[in-house]
Amino acid sequence: MPNGESPKGNRNTKGQPGITQAALFGLCPCCGQRGLWDGPANLVDRCNACGQEFGRFEPKGRGLYLVVLPVTVLLILASLKLDEAVQLPVWVLVALWGIVVPVAVIGALRIAKTIVLMARLQKGKLL
Ligand SMILES: [Zn+2]
Repeated sequence: MPNGESPKGNRNTKGQPGITQAALFGLCPCCGQRGLWDGPANLVDRCNACGQEFGRFEPKGRGLYLVVLPVTVLLILASLKLDEAVQLPVWVLVALWGIVVPVAVIGALRIAKTIVLMARLQKGKLL
């Protein structure tokens, strides 16, 4: 067998992105091309580069509360701690939490969805 040839055939298994790269930079877990995300935390139906289907592997519904609720609790605790430590003007708080909350929730959802997606793809022997 020539060097670098895998038993999976012509699918390139080297250079596949990890969970963080897939979640944060939107790299396809199969081919490594950009474009995994359709919206802030929505997977595309299928990869534009390799055609891998993602839509049916996307976790949806109440299971995502397990991700959003702990993040929400942590954000509330962080805001209470911050308010205890320094008394910031209201406009600063609105600007700060207006940025931190969506970034934290979307980031957590992307990471959780990527973990589930990759586990489901591996279970289906698609990775
Ligand atoms: Zn792809």
